Amino acid sequence: MRINKYIASCGVASRRKAEELIISGRVTINGELITELSTTVDETKDIVEVDGVPINQEEKKVYILLNKPEGYITTVKDQFDRPSVLDILKDVDERVYPVGRLDYETSGLLILTNDGDLTYKLTHPKHEVEKTYLAMVNGIITPEEKRRFENGLQIEDYTTAKAKLKIVKVNEEKNYSVCKITIHEGRNRQVRKMCKAINHPVRNLRRIQMGRINIRGLEVGEYRNLTDEEVAYLK
Ligand code: URA
Repeated sequence: MRINKYIASCGVASRRKAEELIISGRVTINGELITELSTTVDETKDIVEVDGVPINQEEKKVYILLNKPEGYITTVKDQFDRPSVLDILKDVDERVYPVGRLDYETSGLLILTNDGDLTYKLTHPKHEVEKTYLAMVNGIITPEEKRRFENGLQIEDYTTAKAKLKIVKVNEEKNYSVCKITIHEGRNRQVRKMCKAINHPVRNLRRIQMGRINIRGLEVGEYRNLTDEEVAYLK
């Protein structure tokens, strides 16, 4: 990795500022002063110091809120070589990874971080935080179907926990409903499976909220850092 990128990834300075640090003779690698911007670092074994202080990549924790577009996977790679959400993050030097999953065809709120403790906490079934989705589903949902959805459905080998379903729009002519769905579990394709179980397959799914964190203000494909208050709330 180029030295300026490495310094930035440790959270010490932006890549531009890192170049200034290098040129002004404040950076050493394994005790040797370097001033060439083309110098590379082996981040697994080289010791880099800025003003005599060792730096390393694990130090800076980053927390990113992305409005995921449809058509991206949330794993690093898959067998079909489809684009990953990590391809969207252009100026993030840290090695972040998504907290939980969103399907390839689901859009909306996705948190990415390099903080393993937070990821564990947010995805552990014991403290799973509430997640709210906007789902456009086939057909018109009856009160009885809503009741079944909210009270728990048998899906494959498990029964879903209590959930909320609020119908926000009905279009009889085009035969669809839009509903706000809140669950606090995170099983694979759970919302899609729950909707299918009441015979209203999902046409379109977007996550809009996780706990108190909302996707408002971010266009699809945009991202921002979580504020300190948001991070403190999630922790
Ligand atoms: N439930 C789903 O079905 N898909 C998602 O991406 C998230 C929750």
